[in-house]
Amino acid sequence: MRRIGVLTSGGDAPGMNAAVMAVAKAARYYGMSLIGIKRGYNGTLCHSRNIEDDMVELDLDTILDIADLPGTYLRTARCLDFLKPEMRMHAANNIREMGIEGIVVIGGDGSYQGARSLCELGIPCVGIPGTIDNDLAYTENTLGFDTAVNSCMEDVRAIRATSRSHDRPGVAEVMGRHCGDIALRTCASTGAEICIVPEVPWSIQEVADRLCRLIDNGNPRATVVVAEGAWDAMHPFDWQHFLTERGVKHVYPDTTINSEYLALILKHKCSAEVRATVLGYTQRGRHPSAYDSWFAFEAGNLAVNLLRNGIGNQVIGIKDGRVFYMPITMALQQKREFDLALYNLVNSL
Ligand code: ADP
Repeated sequence: MRRIGVLTSGGDAPGMNAAVMAVAKAARYYGMSLIGIKRGYNGTLCHSRNIEDDMVELDLDTILDIADLPGTYLRTARCLDFLKPEMRMHAANNIREMGIEGIVVIGGDGSYQGARSLCELGIPCVGIPGTIDNDLAYTENTLGFDTAVNSCMEDVRAIRATSRSHDRPGVAEVMGRHCGDIALRTCASTGAEICIVPEVPWSIQEVADRLCRLIDNGNPRATVVVAEGAWDAMHPFDWQHFLTERGVKHVYPDTTINSEYLALILKHKCSAEVRATVLGYTQRGRHPSAYDSWFAFEAGNLAVNLLRNGIGNQVIGIKDGRVFYMPITMALQQKREFDLALYNLVNSL
């Protein structure tokens, strides 16, 4: 292969730039030119007035400057047009016209489905799992997950320090719409006492009972870590009625429950000043950890090697601490298993 492309797609994740750098270094080493495709699959559609806004030759010196930075230099975006078969045909033609013979796709499972469809159109692709969620079953870690957990750990430690000063419990909301791994690892690495995730049904009463018990047993500053998607797994509870009855204002009927309201409910149920903090996008915008930077380095290099050896339609992951690859279709078929043993440990100790 003489020319390959690289794109970042879906939600951004720390380590995406490091992976692009590794791809750029390996491409240079093997004498291939590298095209950076902008804003996920949008760049393949070439809808911008200026082609440089869609696809641009990546110069290694520029990439070296951004490798350690958070975010993604290539930008990322969702691309709904790419869900249409005729648009994907159009994209495949553009890719061929640019002389791109293979693509490294850095993104989550949606991006992998896009990569699989490009493979079906004759464009070999290799995927690197760039998402903080850790929601891909075939790999032990996704790129960005370790950094996100480190970020949450720092923040939850800070929350626990001020909670300790005031003897007041805290609720910390972390990311994870369908996957509670960030919440779980954050609890395990900070000693936070209560973990709430989308994978395990839970009830407010049960959480309140545990928090009250912790307070009664001499821990008035326990921390609840809740994943942003855990509300769907909550046992029905008329929380609005509960709060309105206690004179809490601004509880509108069309509002959905969130960590602020959970803190208010716990405040009333446990007679404690519970404070909520939503950690939000800080988790996605950190400098990549050593682990993610290492993974990006190995994955980028392996991706280029696979493409240059004509092995497309693959994704890269980590198993038993080692970087490996497997076919995209096989990877997408795997069912994710939540670590219930660790969850039970965190919630029972
Ligand atoms: P992630 O890659 O983080 O899971 P998304 O699910 O938003 O993020 O997917 C990113 C992009 O991948 C989508 O905007 C779309 O361009 C592409 N994509 C997602 N699903 C498919 C699909 N079934 N077929 C083709 N492309 C897809």
